[in-house]
Formats: sequence, C-alpha cells, structure tokens
Amino acid sequence: MNHTTRRGRFAPTPSGLLHLGNAFTALAAWLQIRQAGGEFALRVEDIDKPRSRQEWVSLQLQDLKWLGIDWDEGPDLGGAYAPYTQSERENLYEEALARLISSGMLYPCYCSRKDLAQLASAPHGLSSEGPAYPGFCRHLTEAEQAAKAADKSPSLRFFMPASSPACQFRDSLSGENLRFDCESLGDFVVRRADGIFSYQLAVTVDDAAMAITDVLRGADLLDSTPRQLALYEALGLHAPAFAHVPLIADASGERLSKRDKSLTLASLRERGVRPERLVGALASLAGWIDQPRELHASELISLFGPIKTKINSPLIFDRELEAWLFGG
Ligand code: GLU
Repeated sequence: MNHTTRRGRFAPTPSGLLHLGNAFTALAAWLQIRQAGGEFALRVEDIDKPRSRQEWVSLQLQDLKWLGIDWDEGPDLGGAYAPYTQSERENLYEEALARLISSGMLYPCYCSRKDLAQLASAPHGLSSEGPAYPGFCRHLTEAEQAAKAADKSPSLRFFMPASSPACQFRDSLSGENLRFDCESLGDFVVRRADGIFSYQLAVTVDDAAMAITDVLRGADLLDSTPRQLALYEALGLHAPAFAHVPLIADASGERLSKRDKSLTLASLRERGVRPERLVGALASLAGWIDQPRELHASELISLFGPIKTKINSPLIFDRELEAWLFGG
C-alpha cells in the first residue's frame, strides 16, 4: 500500500439481517472506493456483545456477496490490519481510553438510564446518541464522586468542548458544509457502566488504526461525526474524510429500516429478487442512473457520484419502484 491509496470500509453491527438501507450504504461505500481504485475492508462491529450474534455475521457477509460487493480485507480474509472483529480489538480501545483519562478528557458519570430517560422529550431530527447529556456529573467534586461510587460503577464520558473545529466539516460526497452546535451535542459515553466500550470510541480507534481514509455511512450517524472528529483531535489522530448518504423512506416518510422484515436482503432473495434488480433500484433511487434497470454492482463503479438529494432528505422508495423491484 502506498500513501495515496484510498481506504474505505463497511462496518455492520451483527444484530440482525441486513435490510435494504444497509445495502444502499454498503453499496455506496464500496463504489466510492472501487471508483478510486482503493482498498475496501469489512469490519464486524460486535462491541456491544449483548446485541451481537455470531450467526448474523455469516448471514450479513453472505448478503453482501450476493449483492455483488467484495472486500480486500475482513474477518473471513484477514489482512494487514487484522483482526477485523471489534470484540478482538479491545486492547486498542483500552489504550485509547487510558490516553484520554491521562489527558483529563473523561469524567465518571453516575447517572442511570432511568435518570436520563426522564429528560426532556426526544431530540429533534436524527440523533445517534439520544438527548444531549445535560452534564449532571461534569463538575462533581472528588468527595461527591466517591460517595456515588459506593453505590454504582460509573460510565465514562468525554468532555465535549464548547466549541471545536470538530463541529464543522464538509461532507466529502455531497460537498455540503455541516455545522453543529458542539454544546448541544453533549458529553458522550466512551465506556459504559457495564464496561462495554462505546461505538464512538471503538469506531474512531479502528478507523484510525486501519488507516481508513474515507468513511461513508448513513445519515442516521451524521451527528456522530463531530463527536468522532473531537475524539480524533483529543487522541492526536488523523481523521478520515466523512461522507453520509440519505436514509431511505417509504412514501409516507417512514424509514424503511423501521418497517417490517419484508425488506431484508434475505427476504428479497427468497422472493426471487435478483441482486442486479436491487442494485438497479438503489442506483435509480440515488440518481446514479435515470431509470431503474438491472445492472451488476461492478457496472455502477464508473457511474457513482453524489446522491440526488441532500443528506438530510430521505430518498423515497415509492410503490412504483417497489413494484419494479418485484418484477414489475
Ligand atoms: N456499526 C455501525 C452500524 O451498523 C456503523 C458504523 C459506521 O459506519 O461508522 O450502524
């Protein structure tokens, strides 16, 4: 590998079957890297062990292969940045955590889920972390911490700076300039009270350690990006370019991933949908082709480019496209 090689990844959580929305993200991430002649890695994000199951890993890999996506490195292939499974990389998260602790970037938080659930209503718009943490434990004295520690083991939160360059970035696919209010993102958890490292920490450590240059993922993680950029900064790591693709919704605006199970890749396959049809439907949704037509994922490599809507406007998978997908 030389320094100009672009490196991307798809990093599913093995907590269920991949659905049409995951297929779209995986396809876009893969196309971006294949178009650039780069290297593509598959990483299994099973850091949240209670939610993850080994059997989903093989089913997800099988679905991606069916779709026409390949990878140069992954849990099944190995590679220069192995292991590609987060549960085998915890030593790296420990090290990063120790560095954040020694630089005073973390504090123990004793708030329970119940305390936090009582907070103000759900956040507006998409939020990958729930309501911003209001900072109850931010300024506890050592004596207060010791008193609380007698009853409960704490989670560890990252002091999100009140303002930071991390809260502004340019999306590398759409070119949109995204701005967040750092303060309203709140201090986020890097290690839970049960000892599980958070997605934010693990993904940052892994993308940096795997020399990923291009992250492309769904708009549901848009507000994770400034948090991760803040972690890159705190850890002195070089951040990749970030791109986000819009979510897919049905005509009533409901996210497809939240709908019934009929749009998992496995069920599409069972209903006789060919991968070329799914790829064609996703390509027309994105605007990479004008009209839906069957094509292999590799035929899209030269056609890949920005998506036709802004990151925060869902792509509408309407009845007409659904009918076409099923053979209309
Ligand atoms: N593991 C995350 C998920 O499945 C995606 C992580 C990422 O792409 O940053 O939602």
